[in-house]
Amino acid sequence: MTDAPMRPRLSDLERSELDTLIRQLGQPAFRAGQVWDWMAKKGVFAPREMTNLPAPLRDKLIELHPDPALQFEGDSEARDTTEKLLFRLADGRYVESVLIPAPKRTTVCLSSQVGCAVGCRFCASGIEGGQRNLTTGEIFEQFMAMSRRAEERGRRVSNIVVMGMGEPMFNFSHVMAALDRINSPEGPNLGARKITVSTVGIRGGVERFTALRKPYTLAFSLHAPNDELRRRIVPLASAMSVAEIREAALRHLKETGREVTFEYVLLRGVNDSPAEAREFRALMRGTQASVNLIPYNPVPGLPYERPDDRDVDRFVAILEDGRVKVSVRRRKGSDIDAACGQLALKRRAEER
Ligand code: SF4
Repeated sequence: MTDAPMRPRLSDLERSELDTLIRQLGQPAFRAGQVWDWMAKKGVFAPREMTNLPAPLRDKLIELHPDPALQFEGDSEARDTTEKLLFRLADGRYVESVLIPAPKRTTVCLSSQVGCAVGCRFCASGIEGGQRNLTTGEIFEQFMAMSRRAEERGRRVSNIVVMGMGEPMFNFSHVMAALDRINSPEGPNLGARKITVSTVGIRGGVERFTALRKPYTLAFSLHAPNDELRRRIVPLASAMSVAEIREAALRHLKETGREVTFEYVLLRGVNDSPAEAREFRALMRGTQASVNLIPYNPVPGLPYERPDDRDVDRFVAILEDGRVKVSVRRRKGSDIDAACGQLALKRRAEER
């Protein structure tokens, strides 16, 4: 998986790089603040729309960085008001983000890569493998586009999960730079505790994440309570073992004081039996972690099914019996291809 071999977009510049650029263009320092405000506060990334800039500066920025990193390509809305937006990138690839409204929160699910090298068997993003890392600007622009969509719906984004296309630990520096920008008072100022980064468990990445001691939440996409089953569902050889993940969760708690979340996609007849629930419960003992169960959204062409509500309830009851904190994400977006990567996959198929 590589970084994008493209000319950087304006949104890819860090604040200090923008300051330098503005100085090199012979402009007073406050102009950098104006450009930054357009991007980080208003979500405007095309210089031609930055109307308070003097024409010569605007023209120069148009020459250097004419277009935003993302072009809106389409959307779909589920009956439960979950919305998925599809964006076209400068190199013609696609990426998608999801807006998930709930009574007390509005969550945005962001992508960190185009495609995904992890190749989880149940996931549309893994079907074509990993293609490239998203840039900081591409990740940040997703957030701003989703914020705008939320505002149009009379809502404000309250939470982020980096759980869309891609494995964020494979694109660590761009993901963290984008989240820091989203968290910054000079930008959207979204609380760090409302931001979750979800990983299948990539050794160096998880250690780096813990060492940074940021108050972002670390979530492990576990999907199975033992290595044998997990390897069938999450085939990436370099992913951490279940025992290593548990150890990393404990270390993260000890070093940062932050509890970890475990994500578990429930696949009918694969990982949703009472025996697996009991094994999972034993694994959670002493971790203080919370568990997020996600009954599967079927992907056309893949052989997995959603479990019955009764089986989900039984799984929950077994975990709760061990005092595990459990939440279930029910039916969000099941009728809009909301499993990550499905919309992008469909669009690429249409283009062929
Ligand atoms: S579920 Fe996440 S980690 Fe697994 S293939 Fe899909 S995008 Fe990658």
